[in-house]
Amino acid sequence: MSSTETQLSSNFIRHLITKDISNNKNNGKVITRFPPEPNGYLHIGHAKSICLNFGMAAEYNGDCNLRFDDTNPEKESIEFMESIERDVQWLGFKWANKYHASDYFEQLYDYAVQLIRDGNAYVDSLNAEQIREYRGTLTEPGKESPDRSRSIEDNLALFAGMRNGEYADGQFVLRAKIDMASPNINMRDPALYRIKRIHHQRTGSDWCLYPMYDFTHCLSDAIENITHSLCTLEFEAHRPLYDWVLDKLQTPSHPQQIEFARLQLEYTIVSKRKLAQLVNENHVNGWDDPRMPTIAGMRRAGYTPSSIRDFCERIGITKKDSWIEMAVLENCIREDLNENAPRAMAVLKPLRLVIENYPDDQAEILEVSNHPQKPELGNRKIPFSKVILIEQDDFAEIPPPKFKRLIAGGEVRLRSSYVIKCNEIIKDEAGNIIELRCSYDPDTLGKKPEGRKVKGVIHWVSEQQSLPAELRLYDRLFNVANPDSEENFLDAINPDSLEILTDCRVEASLAEASSGDRFQFERTGYFCVDSVDSTAKKLVFNRTVTLRDTWAK
Ligand code: ATP
Ligand code: MG
Repeated sequence: MSSTETQLSSNFIRHLITKDISNNKNNGKVITRFPPEPNGYLHIGHAKSICLNFGMAAEYNGDCNLRFDDTNPEKESIEFMESIERDVQWLGFKWANKYHASDYFEQLYDYAVQLIRDGNAYVDSLNAEQIREYRGTLTEPGKESPDRSRSIEDNLALFAGMRNGEYADGQFVLRAKIDMASPNINMRDPALYRIKRIHHQRTGSDWCLYPMYDFTHCLSDAIENITHSLCTLEFEAHRPLYDWVLDKLQTPSHPQQIEFARLQLEYTIVSKRKLAQLVNENHVNGWDDPRMPTIAGMRRAGYTPSSIRDFCERIGITKKDSWIEMAVLENCIREDLNENAPRAMAVLKPLRLVIENYPDDQAEILEVSNHPQKPELGNRKIPFSKVILIEQDDFAEIPPPKFKRLIAGGEVRLRSSYVIKCNEIIKDEAGNIIELRCSYDPDTLGKKPEGRKVKGVIHWVSEQQSLPAELRLYDRLFNVANPDSEENFLDAINPDSLEILTDCRVEASLAEASSGDRFQFERTGYFCVDSVDSTAKKLVFNRTVTLRDTWAK
């Protein structure tokens, strides 16, 4: 773990696990699991859950399983499973075992049969709409289905028939027999199985009935001997059902479900369904678009695994929902890159500058340190020559007040190089500035100029030796703090979330940069080599984050 990571702070789950261990509960063992549904790519909210589950297991010398909760085949795919495995590993975690809820389909079926045998479940012929009607409301109790009193033998026969494909989709469901008057609506005879003829990515057409989440999850936990089943707060009202199922059945263990607050992050969306909509409707360029809050998107943008782990530690684990500012996440990567990314120079919108008193055929190589505070990151070579490129914005013919960069007749230092003076402005017929004629002071390399102060420092590259590059300036995808509060979250998309600059020039040393390498482009921002589109001929860089928070009020 990098030095930028904060000290582990205390949280209520750590507290609780420590207590369980001191009481020798579960023989002092800690086994957790991260249970994603493979219906999309993982996002920053999942990172919180991953860091918690894998982190707790690691801290207490326990195990954490990766379990795919693959019980809704219509939205799930192998592509999503593979992306999830890649992302968990990239974040720096190793699962003890990889499981799938579908590994347990046969066992789950047997458990369901046992519930029926014990009079704790029944086959119901009410359709979805009727079930909703019979369920009652928060203020009114529900009504019992006429099928609730069906005999155990009939239920067993019907359930076997459901498995054997004798009935149509939706014709029957298996329901737990609990309490239609329970104040907790989840306890009003929840559905445990539904008939659905659909191909499953792992079990093919073996099954035409699939178990529901509330039945599958607790039993999968129990089969794996999970000790602490950590989940988000919306499952708090499902805990009585979790415990009911495990109490009614003889299972290898009875895990404890503990809820914590979901991550809610400003200026973004953490819902796979909505992220899928952004992808499917082409509002972004795929799940790994650098603007996406997915792990894949953040990786492509240039986030480091340690910056994400650091973020998850900083936000902590609580029982209360709250909103986290985007600046907290951005500061984690900014601090990491400020400390670890080598510096380089890139000119986004080049302006040609000719140094008239520099010999035509001369080219010198400047030795420049890669990081001002870290000599251990070494030096690089930067060619300097008669024609260089600077940023159009770093010259002003009519300077605004306090302009510290280059002006007509003024002096400025070229970063890590000489002081130059602008003598003449060359314009085209339309009046656009196309070139600056300058002179340099040969006595200013690594030295202050004699008898005068030069305040401004600007970045530059040599025209001849620099390399063409495309820079993609990504910004926040949404321009309101809570896009979900809009009538349609798509209306909150920031129209300026991507600016592509295709005529940039970067310093020659970047010829060696490879996919994913991260840099601070001096005065410009933190960038990384795009892992998809960058080639040796045309480098493509993604802006990971700006140098400073430009969104702060
Ligand atoms: P989504 O609504 O984005 O699909 P989900 O909860 O349905 O989220 P799962 O794949 O079921 O997604 O989640 C796997 C695990 O990650 C669960 O334990 C879930 O509680 C946790 N998780 C999902 N979103 C968040 C979040 N925003 N903050 C913390 N944990 C989360
Ligand atoms: Mg889910």
